[in-house]
Amino acid sequence: MSNPDSEVVTYEQRGDVAVVTMNRPEYRNAQNSAMTYALDDAFYRAAADDAVKVVVLAGSGKHFSAGHDIGTPGRDIDSSFERRAGLWWDHVGREGAESRFARESEVYLGMCRRWRELPKPTIAMVQGACIAGGLMLAWSCDLVIAADDAFFADPVVRMGIPGVEYFAHPWVMGPRFAKEFLFTGERVGADRALALGMVNRVVARAELEAETMGLAEKIAQMPRLGLALTKKAVNQAEDLMGLRAGMDSVFGLHHLAHAHNAEVGTDSLAGQTARSMKAPTTSP
Ligand code: ZN
Repeated sequence: MSNPDSEVVTYEQRGDVAVVTMNRPEYRNAQNSAMTYALDDAFYRAAADDAVKVVVLAGSGKHFSAGHDIGTPGRDIDSSFERRAGLWWDHVGREGAESRFARESEVYLGMCRRWRELPKPTIAMVQGACIAGGLMLAWSCDLVIAADDAFFADPVVRMGIPGVEYFAHPWVMGPRFAKEFLFTGERVGADRALALGMVNRVVARAELEAETMGLAEKIAQMPRLGLALTKKAVNQAEDLMGLRAGMDSVFGLHHLAHAHNAEVGTDSLAGQTARSMKAPTTSP
C-alpha cells in the first residue's frame, strides 16, 4: 500500500459516504493532470461501489483549490494520460490551438462534465480559496458547503480569457453578477456566495467537516435510484436552461482568447504566471 501522504488524491469510505480529498496542500491543491486523473479514478470507484451513497469532495489544508496548476514543480501539461472524457486524440505532440483544444476538452470541460453526471449526490466541502479551476470542481458537484473563510474568484479575464473552461457562471450565480464577478476578478466571500445561490450553506470553519458529513449521511438515507434520477432530473432541467449548449459555445470563445494570446504575445496565458495571478484585486 502506498503512503497516503504522497498521493495527490486520497479516498476514504466513512459509512455510506466516500470522501475524496485533493492532497497537494503545499500548493493550495493546485490541480495538475495527475490530480485530475486521480480524481476521475476516485469518482469512478465511488460510482461503481454499491456501499457508497454520497460523495464528498474536499481539499486538504487551508484551501480547497487555487485552480489549475500553472506553476508548481508538478505541472504536467506535457504529459500523456489515458484519455477518458472523449475520443479526441492526445494533445501531446500537437501544436498550437490543436494541442490546447485537445487537452482542455479532455481534462477541463470533459472531466468536469463527466463528474457532474456521477449518478450519486456529490458535495463540495470548501474552505479558504476556491479560485478559477477550483470553481469548476465545486460547481460540478451537486451541493456546495462553504466554511465562513471560503472565498471564490475567477480572475482569468486578466489573461484576456472570458472565464474558466467550465463556463457555468451565468447559471450558478445569475448573469448580472456573473458579469461583475468576471469583469472585476474580485474575491467573493462565503456569505455573498450564499446570497447569490452559489453555495447551499455557510458554516463555521471548525464545523465544516461535521456539518458536511451530517448532510451527506442524511442524504444517504434516501434510495439510491431515487437520488440518481433526481440528480439527473435537475441536471437535465439545467441543460434545458442552456447550460450545456452555452458552455460549448463559450468554449470556442475561450480558445479564441488562448489563440489570440499565443498569436500576439509569448504564450496562451498572456504572460501571466501563478505569482502574478495570485495577487488579489481586492479582499473579500
Ligand atoms: Zn484554457
